[in-house]
Amino acid sequence: MAESTRLEEKDFKPSLKKSFGRSLARYLSGRCNECGKERFLSAIDYYSSKKTDCIHCQVTSYLTWPIIHIFFKRLLISKETTKQILDDQLLRGTMMNLIKGIAYFGVKIPQPTRVPVVIVWNITNRCNLNCLHCHQSSTRSPSERELTTNEAFKIVDKLSNAGLSILTFSGGEPLVRNDIFDVIKRATDNGIYCTVASNGILMKPKIVEKLCNVGVHRVEIGLDGANAETHDFLRNKRGSFKATVKGIQNCVKYGNFEEIAITSTLYKSNVKEIPKIIDVAESLGATRFYLNRLIPAGRGIDITHLDVSHKEKRTILNYLYNRFHASVVNGDGIQCYARGMTYLARVGYEQSHGQIFHVSEAFSGYDTMFKKKFGGELSKFVRRFAKGFSGCSAGLTYCGLTAQGDLIPCVPSPMKLGNLLEEKLVDIWANNETLNNMRDRKNLKGSCGKCDYNGLCGGCRYTAHFMTDDWLGPDLSCPFGAK
Ligand code: SF4
Ligand code: SF4
Ligand SMILES: [Zn+2]
Repeated sequence: MAESTRLEEKDFKPSLKKSFGRSLARYLSGRCNECGKERFLSAIDYYSSKKTDCIHCQVTSYLTWPIIHIFFKRLLISKETTKQILDDQLLRGTMMNLIKGIAYFGVKIPQPTRVPVVIVWNITNRCNLNCLHCHQSSTRSPSERELTTNEAFKIVDKLSNAGLSILTFSGGEPLVRNDIFDVIKRATDNGIYCTVASNGILMKPKIVEKLCNVGVHRVEIGLDGANAETHDFLRNKRGSFKATVKGIQNCVKYGNFEEIAITSTLYKSNVKEIPKIIDVAESLGATRFYLNRLIPAGRGIDITHLDVSHKEKRTILNYLYNRFHASVVNGDGIQCYARGMTYLARVGYEQSHGQIFHVSEAFSGYDTMFKKKFGGELSKFVRRFAKGFSGCSAGLTYCGLTAQGDLIPCVPSPMKLGNLLEEKLVDIWANNETLNNMRDRKNLKGSCGKCDYNGLCGGCRYTAHFMTDDWLGPDLSCPFGAK
């Protein structure tokens, strides 16, 4: 191996470098005693404008600026791009969240942030479809009371005040909520980067335009086959393939999204078709492809017999990695990633001799945005730090949110961590014992605990919980086993 991927005991002993990192993060995330501004933000503002009314902030900026400057220089990021990055509201907020995470949790691999960077919000459990694999068991009418518009607004305001960067509206089918545009607008007005996950059927030209008008940057649409037979079977409705393809075409034609992602759920009948589905996605104008594992949650539990074998999974992951490498590294074709199969990072690590592997699920989706804004320099940065954010993101940089406002470790999980109408995001995130245990991969058990790749991969924590009744247990869906 080019570099160890295992979290060694020494990684957990306080070293001088780590203590310095944490002390610096504590200082930068603290507020100026004079004007009350967060020191990191005042340092980067001073770098941009060279102006401040506060003498304390001026001194802080002089002291901290060389460290920030060296940091970016060592990453080979030019002065001009550094300035652009530091001026970007979304990245400023994310960096502040990361610094606060280091201050609170210490320097870790992987590194938890102070609050999630990404939340996927199943804003409704209602759906116009009744898919066989739905992990929410969604139907046309909700089984529980869902948040009112005002309650949803309240939650959006809380998320933005807490420093959340990215919010994905999912479901059920988020477009069946009449107030979805108002809720998204509230979030984008608050500076949150919004994306929508949909089955595509309701993506009519007017809806696409409305989504763009309220500031949606990215849509992702489920397409489970390269033809009607394989897609319609899993979607449990004849004609859904045609309607979804039309929805994707509408997004391409009538929208100006930064990204159109296609997601496919892997199962026995489409495993041989995946290369073709990726080609279809590309020919339709999508810019990204996610291969999802058949997650054993909701109605998905009833069809686990449709899951692929370990051998089939290994073959398709090797193929996916080659497409990932061609697209993300060589810029050739649609970008390919996996979800719920953290061991794709292991495949990448082995095939590239330790050079390239994919980042965490939460962070993998923004390469196009980075390239558009920063011409590829930030992608280098993300890749350089991939090891610190790789594998399962649940409890580290990501969590889920339900239609009732309950925070959950990941969208398929029924485990409620706390309700956002009643509690603060920062408190639920920091105080939950399960999340805290998951944050240290040295706590993992069984094959994932023994595996050399637990630093890069760590297994799908939800699957481990489902199969072993232990959030720290082995991910038995792994087709490789411990190395
Ligand atoms: S055993 Fe666990 S940590 Fe190792 S590759 Fe498989 S899922 Fe990942
Ligand atoms: S638990 Fe982790 S790996 Fe599994 S689906 Fe959630 S984020 Fe992905
Ligand atoms: Zn000040």
